[in-house]
Order: sequence, then C-alpha cells, then structure tokens
Amino acid sequence: MNDTHGGNAALVARDLAHVWHPCTQMREHTAQLPLVPIVRGDGAWLIDAEGNRYLDGVSSWWSNLFGHANPRIAAAIAEQAARLNHVMLAGFTHEPALELAEELVRIAPAGLDRVSFASDGASAVEIALKMSLHHWRNIGQPQRTRFIALANAYHGETLGALAVSDLPLYRAVYGPLLFDPIVAPPPDWLDAEPGESPDDVARRRLADTRALLERHAEETCAVIIEPLVQCSGGMRMHAPSYLAGLRALCDEFGVHLIADEIAVGFGRTGTLFACEQASITPDFLCLSKGLTGGALPLSAVLTTNQVYEAFLGDYAANNAFLHSHTFSGNPIACAAALASLAIFRDEPVLERNRALAAHLARRLESLRGHPHVAGLRQTGWIAAFDLVKDKPSRQAYPAAERRGLRFYRHALAHGVLLRPLGDTVYFLPPYCIGESDIDLMVDVAIAALDAATG
Ligand SMILES: *Cc1c(COP(=O)(O)O)cnc(C)c1O
Repeated sequence: MNDTHGGNAALVARDLAHVWHPCTQMREHTAQLPLVPIVRGDGAWLIDAEGNRYLDGVSSWWSNLFGHANPRIAAAIAEQAARLNHVMLAGFTHEPALELAEELVRIAPAGLDRVSFASDGASAVEIALKMSLHHWRNIGQPQRTRFIALANAYHGETLGALAVSDLPLYRAVYGPLLFDPIVAPPPDWLDAEPGESPDDVARRRLADTRALLERHAEETCAVIIEPLVQCSGGMRMHAPSYLAGLRALCDEFGVHLIADEIAVGFGRTGTLFACEQASITPDFLCLSKGLTGGALPLSAVLTTNQVYEAFLGDYAANNAFLHSHTFSGNPIACAAALASLAIFRDEPVLERNRALAAHLARRLESLRGHPHVAGLRQTGWIAAFDLVKDKPSRQAYPAAERRGLRFYRHALAHGVLLRPLGDTVYFLPPYCIGESDIDLMVDVAIAALDAATG
C-alpha cells in the first residue's frame, strides 16, 4: 500500500518542511489539525498513503461532481495532453475551447452568447467586474464605478473579488487595499421574522435593495450575487423570488446583474444553474469549481452580445478587453470540462440527484430535534445545519471553542470528510455517492455532532 510513497508520517514530515497550505493556520498542524496525505481517489472516496479511506462529503471544496479519478474525465485529459497541452488563446484557437464555448452557450440561460475563459473562480469574478465597468465606460458612462454586493457574500480571494466579499475572516486584514462596495442586506431565510416565509424575507430585502439603487444607480456598474446559496458565508439560502426580483430591479435601474455560480452551478441547487429557478438571465455568469468535474482549474464568464459589442471599435480607443491570463482556455482543462458536460448529457444526473437529495433530507430530518442543531436547511444538493449552544435562542458557541473543528476531527477519524464552515456543518458530496454512503455520512455526522457538542 505504501511501497512508493512511504507512510503517512513520512509524507507529512516532508510536506511540512516546505508546503504552505491554503486556508490554514500552519501552527495547528498536526497537533490540533490533522494533515492527510492522499495518494488516490476512487469515486466519492479519497485514499491515504496507508490505505485509509475517507468519504468526501464536501466534494473537495465543492469542485468534484462525478467522483475522484473519474475514468471518462481522466481519459479525456490523457488524450488531450498527448495531442496539445497548451497554446495561447490570443491569435490562436483550438477545438476544446471553441467546443466548450458552444456547449456552455447551449446549456446556460438564454441570451448568454459570449464566453471568456480564465483559470480560477476569483479570476472569473475579476473579469466580470472589470468587463462591467469597462462596458459602461465604452458606452459613455464612465461615472459608473461602484458595485452592489450582498452582506455575507464570498466571491474569492484576489483583491477585486475580495472587495465584493463580506467575510471579515478573509477580508478585514486587506481592507486598506480594497475598494468599497455598496452592501445590501442578504435575503437569508434564517433571518425571517416570526410568521415570515422565505418569499416574505425576499420581498423585504428587495425593498432594501431598491432603496440602495434609488440612491446609487447612476454610479453603479452591477449588482453581484451568489444565486440561491451563499456557500462560504455558511450555506445561507434564499428564495428564488429574490433572484427574480433582483433581475427586475437591475433592469428597472439599468445596472448589470452578475451571477456568481462558481459554487452553485452544475446542478448543486437541483437545477443545472441556480438562475433557472428564477427564470432569469444575468448579464454575467461566472462558472468554475464543477466546470471540469473538479479535475482541473478552469473558469468561464458568459455574457451577452450586447456587452460584447460595446467592446468593438478602433484599437486606439482602448475599447478592447485586454485582460488576459496565460492559461486562458487551456485545452486540457477544456477537454476535462467537455467530458464532464458529456456525462450530464448522457446520464440522468439531475433526476438521480433529486432522489438522493430527498434521501439525504429524510436522514437529516432526525436531527431537527437535536438540542445543539439549528437552522437545518437544504437547497437541492446542498444541506446544512448550525451547531448552537442554545437551541431556542440559536445562541452560537464562543468561536474560541472551535466546535466545528472538533466535529471535523471526529468525522475524519471515522472515515468521513465533512469540513464545517465555522460551526456550520454542511453536506455537499460528489454526485456518484450512493444511498448507503449517504447513510454512512449522516451516521458519522450524528456521532461527530455528539462528540463536538457533548
Ligand atoms: C470558491 C468561490 C469563488 C472563488 O473561486 P476560486 O477558484 O477559489 O478562486 C468565488 N465565488 C464563489 C461563490 C465561490 O464559492
């Protein structure tokens, strides 16, 4: 099992000598926070250097759709790598990029006919922000320089994406480097007043956003939103009516709508894209994470011909969108994405997911009465609850108690990867998971819940 790699301990020691891990207080390795060397993936499972198996309940940061080392995606990558690794997309093109653009236009909400590629989610958000501002400048409205973002939003870690994000943990330190968005209150249904439905919360929050637009529309480029679920912000969910209302407000006040579906795209909310549930087309649609089935970094921004045409003109006018990334439209990543999208075409993925999501919901229902579980919620494939100290008042545990970390460690020690966001536990496994693995995931979560709150 460990013939070529050495055991876990040897790999961990070599890693800690040089690797600086993302989203990690490195000093916690490995006394409080285990570091697990993974040597292989197998469907919904990850396998370490000593043969221990971990059920990936979070799809490796929400990226994996059809399993680790998915044979169809792996074959497409190998084939493409043997033919053409990379060519720059300025002045050149290749079939994987143009075919992926065709396919994305075909499956995305109608009216998004132009596709721009990048590598990571955050760079897709940067493109959408810059394109929106540049579009307004090109049509003679250079006074539009601001963005409206939701409180509790997350759009990535690069400076522009971080600027429109609102999680102090990631943002606060870098505040001096960031532009200030106009912040709208989020339509989170957990914030409902007694007797309010999710649609009532949506209506109330739309009135708040309307008031912001009445004051700021003329200086505003776009409103940016994570449709239906604010994932990094703790899997906070809102009604599709908010999204529909926001589209109507953007139209009324003449500003763009940027839909960041980097996390929720490709079926996570139950439909291929979350925007479908509100029957809307955004002006910009940002995609990444699941785009390649989680195999390789790739992102895309889809926009309208109307936006595209504002960038056509004399070279000297500086109307063109000169933003570039070296690996824009990388052929291997595009081939992986095409293989992943072919699985959606060939298999009844969303139907199957609906049945599995209903099974997960039934299993989680048993937690509703748990004295330390609050806010049990689900949108499509994404389910979550909060660990709370006191249920009636939804009082949180003191952050320093790190209850979520305790939960994580317990679940991991029992073969299930569930990595809470603070004290919010969520379930977002790859689509290839079966009912028995869902049962295992929930059983381990229940035990971890008692270990973390007992
Ligand atoms: C993860 C995420 C991003 C950033 O994507 P990266 O690939 O990590 O840069 C942006 N927006 C949302 C909604 C995300 O979940």
